[in-house]
Amino acid sequence: MSSYKMRSNEIPLQDSWDVIVVGGGPAGCAAAAAAAREGARTLLVEATGSLGGMGTSGLVPAWCPFSDMETIIYRGLAMKVFESLKAQMPHVGKDAVDWVPIEPEKLKVIYDELVQEAGVTVQFMTQLGAVDTDENGRVAALITASKSGLQALQAKVYIDCTGDADVAAWAGAEYLKGDVETGGLMPATHCFTLGNVDEHAYLHGPLLHSSNKTSPIYDILGSGRYPLIPDAHICNNITAPRTVGFNAGHLWEVDNTDVLSISEALMQGRKLAAAYRDALAEFQPASFGNSYVANTGSLMGVRETRRITGDYVLSVEDYVDRRSFEDEICRNSYFIDIHGTEKEEKQAGGKQEVIRRYGPGESHGIPYRCLTPRLLKNVLVAGRSISCAREVQGSVRVMPVCLAMGEAAGIAAAMAALLPEPDVHAVDTSALRSRLREEGAYLPATEAEQAKGEGGSGVLSH
Ligand SMILES: Cc1cc2nc3c(=O)[nH]c(=O)nc-3n(C[C@H](O)[C@H](O)[C@H](O)COP(=O)(O)OP(=O)(O)OC[C@H]3O[C@@H](n4cnc5c(N)ncnc54)[C@H](O)[C@@H]3O)c2cc1C
Repeated sequence: MSSYKMRSNEIPLQDSWDVIVVGGGPAGCAAAAAAAREGARTLLVEATGSLGGMGTSGLVPAWCPFSDMETIIYRGLAMKVFESLKAQMPHVGKDAVDWVPIEPEKLKVIYDELVQEAGVTVQFMTQLGAVDTDENGRVAALITASKSGLQALQAKVYIDCTGDADVAAWAGAEYLKGDVETGGLMPATHCFTLGNVDEHAYLHGPLLHSSNKTSPIYDILGSGRYPLIPDAHICNNITAPRTVGFNAGHLWEVDNTDVLSISEALMQGRKLAAAYRDALAEFQPASFGNSYVANTGSLMGVRETRRITGDYVLSVEDYVDRRSFEDEICRNSYFIDIHGTEKEEKQAGGKQEVIRRYGPGESHGIPYRCLTPRLLKNVLVAGRSISCAREVQGSVRVMPVCLAMGEAAGIAAAMAALLPEPDVHAVDTSALRSRLREEGAYLPATEAEQAKGEGGSGVLSH
């Protein structure tokens, strides 16, 4: 590729920040709010015009479970966001904790208020474009583009919540992407909502989810009349009056780190949403006969791109053994939810790969070291691109655990910013865990803490 050197390379500099968070999804909102709550001067940079990432701009219609089937394990800011939204959704029971639907416009405002109340400055419509790193692995500045033009933004510590590890990768961190052998990525899904749905017919009609073997989705596929619809994957929830949100179908070989790939996928996704509307109107007319495509995600539903190589790589064995760690910053109990590539899905006869499910009360820990990129001094990563095996990423990528990781990253960044030489690897993890517990985090006592008679709430089952 040829290169271009700018004649003038002077860029206005803003250098008044302790912590800059890039990406305002669940992880980024929690990270920014937590850092600001600790007293750090915090800037949150977001490429779109709203907070919430996949849960709002991406139209993911439901939260993955907040409980381990016995107790709520994603607490602190995660639970605050979750409970605030539930309180504004009259059709959701107040005790519901698993697969609770999301009304995206309400959730956007909840995130706005979360960060505003904490004192975060938010810069919307601002895309990270480059990262300037010195020879010691210390990020010196982020270069962003927005309606204000190019800007250099400087902080003591940076938190990468882009989902794609853009900050870390461009700063020179090691990372892996997709399947290490084939390079394959989990497929994307462009979520959408249908409006003017007959709720009564929908609630009392056949279950659309692909787990129901008599779901109309199988009649749609069998009819051959909707060739755009690729497979039986179809999750759906009532997200607002007469409105059903869909996470349906797969788009293959979409790479969110390639702008042309993502642009093509967005156009294909919109065509697909229209095809689902027409197919459902034909095959489930009582519910969807008068429906229309009310919205498609402004973000493509990307499950997987880069995952950084941190001081620790959470392994499949760690997941299977329900391991605890002395420096763990949250627990996770979501199953390993891998959506296969087109080839893998064909081989599996259209089934998704669900490797492991935990029993009631079971969970594993996520060590702080999964958030610290090995080669970088002042960068933390939270959200779906943390340091883990690919299979484990299929579990830790969902929103409740991303919120929990984000809160830990925010507190850790504020602590690192206070060090004479800000260094995320030098954070005192027992002090971090104490602060998380004070804020309500679910962090049962580790073995060492039990031996010392210290510890937090909850009992671990194995
Ligand atoms: C199709 C699909 C269905 C899913 N279903 C569920 C579900 O049912 N329940 C559930 O809990 N989870 C679900 N998930 C998982 C979940 O929504 C995401 O993995 C989760 O939101 C990740 O959180 P995050 O904060 O890491 O990133 P994201 O939510 O992806 O947010 C990243 C944010 O960073 C911004 N950003 C990215 N790059 C830049 C940049 N260079 N400069 C500036 N800003 C940038 C983006 O605009 C975005 O707002 C689903 C995911 C997909 C794709």
